[in-house]
Amino acid sequence: MKIKGAVLREVDKPYSFEELELDSPHANEVLVKWLYTGYCHSDLSNLKGRTMMALPLVAGHECAGLVEAVGEGVTQVKKGDHVVGTWMVPCGQCPECRRGLGNICSGNFGPFVSGTMLDGTTRIKDANGEPVLHGNFVSGFSDYTVVPEGGVVPIRKDMPLDWACLLSCCVPTGWGTVTKAANVQPMDRVAIWGLGGVGQNVLRAAKVRGAHPLIAVDLEESRREKALALGASHFICNAKEDPIPQILDLTGGGCDYVFEAAGQVGATEQAWWALRPAGKLMMVGIISQHEPARLPLTFSVFHQKGVIGTLYGSVAVQDEIPKLVEQAMNGELMIDTIIEGYFKFEELNDIAEKMENRQLGGRWICRLD
Ligand SMILES: [Zn+2]
Ligand SMILES: [Zn+2]
Repeated sequence: MKIKGAVLREVDKPYSFEELELDSPHANEVLVKWLYTGYCHSDLSNLKGRTMMALPLVAGHECAGLVEAVGEGVTQVKKGDHVVGTWMVPCGQCPECRRGLGNICSGNFGPFVSGTMLDGTTRIKDANGEPVLHGNFVSGFSDYTVVPEGGVVPIRKDMPLDWACLLSCCVPTGWGTVTKAANVQPMDRVAIWGLGGVGQNVLRAAKVRGAHPLIAVDLEESRREKALALGASHFICNAKEDPIPQILDLTGGGCDYVFEAAGQVGATEQAWWALRPAGKLMMVGIISQHEPARLPLTFSVFHQKGVIGTLYGSVAVQDEIPKLVEQAMNGELMIDTIIEGYFKFEELNDIAEKMENRQLGGRWICRLD
């Protein structure tokens, strides 16, 4: 069938809007119609060549929509189901999956970065008949696509699908990092660098967990109001002042957890100094693979400080997304506050440009219909 897709052909070049040919789903695959896809900072990282994804790919990984058809052997979803896309598909067999770490499944990490279905092939071709890859299994900036059965999670039908798309990426990443990877407890002292989609969910989750003080740090003063609305006790604009003396003062010597959600090497190096002894720097944002951070790791020993990476919030998405749906519906996630606006498919390059220039104050969602 003919579909439309935003294709990333070359890094640091605009997305190309193309009519593509999509094959039918093979065994254990699902044909989905995406209705909403959020623009995530990782999309920008792929666009700018800061990650290692194979190209050309149909971009987008934070999506929700409807099941249109299922391939042979599919049992988890059926036509008409409302689903959230997931950008990691645990194989269930590899050493990581067996240890309960399906979010970093080594069995399917190959197809994840090389942009194929689980059998190593693609279902998408361009107008010249050349293969086009699947962006992180789900190719969210397309109206229809084929995904592995494990790449969708069915959700209750009364959940608005524009809210649901955020449960693909920024919500489980932010919430899982706080509640699973760090396991923040009441009155833990917490700071967050970077208030994009993931950072806002980290903030919200830490607030619900009872963290205090809860300090939000961002280069944009314009994000102060939203930070306070989501539950920050303090906001510091680090473009205007060095946040470290103030954080050390507010926390009586530093934070138990600092979350780096800006995806910037400078933020990482700065955030390190906000830790108290035995504090943990939780790495959530994706820093360019070309920029190593300079951290004084001598203090990792003397002060027992840790640097902990976490992907997809360290959660089992098939189990966690349905729980987050309930928390979204009861208002705890404040998704309507995190969503800042909507855009048309053709406006994708403008949104990318605005994110690169830090002009977006919350999540922007593409309406694909
Ligand atoms: Zn696995
Ligand atoms: Zn994402």
